[in-house]
Amino acid sequence: MINLKHLAITTLLVLSFIFFIFPTPPGAIFILLKIFVFIFILVFFYKYNNGSSINGTKVSAALQGTGNSPDNSNVKNELRENYDSLLELVFKMILAMNPDYKCAAYMLNPNVNNFVLQKSTSNDFPEQIIRDNLLIDKIINQDSPFLMQQNEEKDLWTDLFGDKSWRGSECMIGIRLNYNDQVGGCLLLMTDHFKSINERDKNILSYLGKHLSMGIRKLQRIEKLLGDKDYRIRISELFNQISIASKEDELFDGVKDLCRSYLRYDKLTITFPIRNSSTAKIKMIDGFSEDSKLGDTFDIDNTLHGLPYKLGERINSTNWVEKYLVKGRFIQGDIEKYNFNSILSIPIKYDNNILGAISIERLNKSSFLDKDIQFLELLTDTMGSILTWKYEYTKMYNNAIHDGLTDLLNHKAYKERLSEELSRAKRFKQSLVLLILDLDKFKRINDSYGHLYGDFVLSEVSKILKDSIRNIDICARYGGEEFAIVLVNTDVKNARPVAERIIESISDFNFIKDGIKERMTISAGMSQYPKNSLEMKELIAHADLAMYEVKKNGGNAVIAHEDY
Ligand code: GH3
Ligand code: MG
Ligand code: MG
Repeated sequence: MINLKHLAITTLLVLSFIFFIFPTPPGAIFILLKIFVFIFILVFFYKYNNGSSINGTKVSAALQGTGNSPDNSNVKNELRENYDSLLELVFKMILAMNPDYKCAAYMLNPNVNNFVLQKSTSNDFPEQIIRDNLLIDKIINQDSPFLMQQNEEKDLWTDLFGDKSWRGSECMIGIRLNYNDQVGGCLLLMTDHFKSINERDKNILSYLGKHLSMGIRKLQRIEKLLGDKDYRIRISELFNQISIASKEDELFDGVKDLCRSYLRYDKLTITFPIRNSSTAKIKMIDGFSEDSKLGDTFDIDNTLHGLPYKLGERINSTNWVEKYLVKGRFIQGDIEKYNFNSILSIPIKYDNNILGAISIERLNKSSFLDKDIQFLELLTDTMGSILTWKYEYTKMYNNAIHDGLTDLLNHKAYKERLSEELSRAKRFKQSLVLLILDLDKFKRINDSYGHLYGDFVLSEVSKILKDSIRNIDICARYGGEEFAIVLVNTDVKNARPVAERIIESISDFNFIKDGIKERMTISAGMSQYPKNSLEMKELIAHADLAMYEVKKNGGNAVIAHEDY
């Protein structure tokens, strides 16, 4: 088959080529013919390349073979893009946990019965892995992440990654990806040193594997469930908005646009439950708005809009007043005032948690069609995924950039932020001040009262630092008992009083815990951009040296680079 195809293609190309180089006889018809042949070759190449990639290795098995009409290639491309961004997001999360991790996603390709590399952050991962590779077998036969170390599984490791000069400390964790409740592939994570993998990372990987599997299923569902091509493209576009940069409002706008295009209603309402309470909040309204405002809260008990939360299922009625024994739509008694008869309300669920509800209401008694229900169900489904992804990503991202004890930015995040601020200062021709602070004789605290008390002092100091600066400034834990602050858009002259206030606040503070009362002092050094240097490294070194100058003089003060 393939050989015949190759032969035909080659013959065609050779003929076209001969035609092409043959001198064109005068006359527009030949020029047109040449153009036509040229376009034909282009189209042919394009199609052939596309086709071979589908039969080949690169295309995800997950999205292959789904959808059957020939005109849905747009949808497929769209879904593939979504699938790519889903992987992108997962990789971002893994790198946020630890930038030294290398990761790869493989999907099982039923055509070649191999695991095919979908995406990776390192060349260490092979393009394909045979279906019965023993290491992969161990991974896909387990629900939880499987951890292995190079020097413990040398032969299997070489089977998978090839014979390179391995150090022995390399290790890998893998988690199965499911697809249609069967093995769909796996997510692999490798690091040069097994000690850097901790329990938290294993849990996160397990979580990511689960969500990647769900994401793939969802994308497939999007494609399968509805016949309307335009709709599928648009809803998968919405799914594509899962980036932490996109704000909640943008998501709501997307939902509103979709609902306006595909549903008929007098009022659309999106509500979210308020944590630890029996109320919910109105997050978006479209249409009629006299009966409720954005930001209003309402009781879940005894209200129509509380029903999707209370029952955990779809509400669909053209005569809800009689069907459900509730006392009002949002508040008791608002039934008489606003005469909405029909409602279709669907909870936004994820993993059995109800994250919100989307409701459409009509004043008249017309019933909602099956396709309306399908549409809204898919929309709530998609929203559930998007919201969960956003929430989890934000949580993980925040964990990754903050210090666990003090909740200040950690060293790495600090350097990134400082670098951003320096670029900004350069762009806007502003100056900024860098402060480095180190607690005086802190070791004594640990030695006298133990680490727990030491930790308490560190977190109290952090609070004082944070309270002493503006929201736009940056405060980080630089190291053990060292802190760094960036005061943006200011100079040493204006920063000095701020630094002096910080030093005074700390020396005045009584650190009281478990009957122990202590006092602390701190030393600080300052440098200024661009006056003292244009380079980040040098600015840090200048501030550091100034801080040591203070230490030499007994601590509890601030000195600027230019002071000595
Ligand atoms: P100097 O005035 O010269 O700065 O002396 P110092 O004692 O403050 O500085 P040194 O560098 O000798 O000691 C810092 C101590 O901080 C040593 C280390 O055990 C302690 N430390 C670092 N991180 C933590 C932490 O997270 N918790 C606690 N409790 N102690 C920490
Ligand atoms: Mg110190
Ligand atoms: Mg120190």
